[in-house]
Amino acid sequence: MSSEDIWFDTRRCFIGGAWVESDSGEDLELTNPSNGKIICSIVRGNTADIERAVTAASKALEDSWGRMTAPERGRILFRLGQLVLDNTETLARLEAMDVGKPLTQARADVIALARYLEFYGGAVDKVHGETIPYLDGYTVYTLRERHGVTGHIIPWNYPMQIIGRSVGAALAMGNAAVLKPAEEACLTALAFADLARQAGLPAGALNVVPGLGAEAGAALTQHPGVQHISFTGSVGVGKLIQAAAAQNVVPVTLELGGKSPQLVFEDADVEKALPFLVNAGIQNAGQTCSASSRILVHSSRYDEVVSKMAARYRNLQVGPAMDDLDVGPLISQRQKTIVEGFLERGKGLEVAAEGDITSDAPSDGAYVRPTLYSGVSPDHVLAQQEIFGPVQVIIPFSDEEEAVRIANGTPFGLVASVWSDSGARQMRLAKKLRAGQVFLNNYGAGGGVELPFGGAGLSGHGREKGFEALYGFSTLKTVAAHHG
Ligand code: ADP
Repeated sequence: MSSEDIWFDTRRCFIGGAWVESDSGEDLELTNPSNGKIICSIVRGNTADIERAVTAASKALEDSWGRMTAPERGRILFRLGQLVLDNTETLARLEAMDVGKPLTQARADVIALARYLEFYGGAVDKVHGETIPYLDGYTVYTLRERHGVTGHIIPWNYPMQIIGRSVGAALAMGNAAVLKPAEEACLTALAFADLARQAGLPAGALNVVPGLGAEAGAALTQHPGVQHISFTGSVGVGKLIQAAAAQNVVPVTLELGGKSPQLVFEDADVEKALPFLVNAGIQNAGQTCSASSRILVHSSRYDEVVSKMAARYRNLQVGPAMDDLDVGPLISQRQKTIVEGFLERGKGLEVAAEGDITSDAPSDGAYVRPTLYSGVSPDHVLAQQEIFGPVQVIIPFSDEEEAVRIANGTPFGLVASVWSDSGARQMRLAKKLRAGQVFLNNYGAGGGVELPFGGAGLSGHGREKGFEALYGFSTLKTVAAHHG
């Protein structure tokens, strides 16, 4: 895969069903994090481009897209899902080159994107209102209606998956979307736009404006013609986006990351847990909102878990995305500096084990060694802040109450898991843990497009995935008829 394999125009925006030049006349450079080389130039969309995109989206709502029935929209999403699958290898290679994720992980993201389109395409004609018993002489019912134009600001870590879960659901409900991908990785967003065109998605239903967050992103969140904003990214930018949306009083969905724990109790099946304990921390080089960066272990199993996790860490191979090893590079040198800053602050902690960077990994790649710390105090900065790198901390606990206190003792609340044979404990903890998703004797459930996902506290609010996403991308109208 090289820049010659890119079949769409990376120096244009996709607006109103066509590839158009940016008003800015400027480009940004896209870097391959595996080797530090420039992949290609990408368009630097600006406020005027966002204006055109919102106008095109509004027009699509008045034209054919806005008049389509739910089954018709679903059929287009199915076609798009099939096209995504037909292009699995190409899309996976684009994502691997752009994001730095190992090919196997990139392929899984393509399948997930297709699954979102299938799920939402098939679910949308099952979304309906209800009738409500009311006073004598009345019939009352509810209608689920689209918001209108939806804005989607997505990060660089899982572009395809997040496009699927957010844009897929918005389109299914009949909204017209304006997507601002991340400046660090936007190739698959542009590829998706081209596949949507091929699938027959009407002009303007999906518009993609790459560019900088402070320019195109901010313009999108401030635009009065946008009726809903969904954002996945950092806490700091999430706050800015909520504040911008407040100016136009529009709803926002914020998915802002976490410090998700896995709790390993004395009666846990440690052998079964092991791959989940490690993979949930190092997948996508730890650059995952729902990464499990804290492993809480009962003191009776502590030494065993530390030594077994450490053995796995010592076998981890880090290298270029196309070599498809366990861990790829981080997204950028900037991210590498951030992660190294945390490792610096971890000096003095006990390092249980580290992974290895392969000898042929290019020196300009953004590689860091996966690092496992043990015996970490729950209030240490490495146990409190989101690192967004392949770094996990193991924290001992002595009883269930302490485990819950530690698990809930960060400002985040995205995902948690409980490893225990006790059904009663599983049920108790499922209620007590502060998280949008709790997994019992597993972690992540393979991504699960069917499973509502979102956070509490600094992890954000609103739910995506599953039927909840379709409710979130629509609004409820109550109709009360008096007929005597
Ligand atoms: P990270 O720190 O992980 O790169 P960010 O939260 O900065 O994550 O970026 C996530 C997305 O938000 C990207 O598409 C980025 O361009 C966008 N973004 C950044 N700043 C702003 C902003 N002020 N307004 C709107 N979008 C923004």
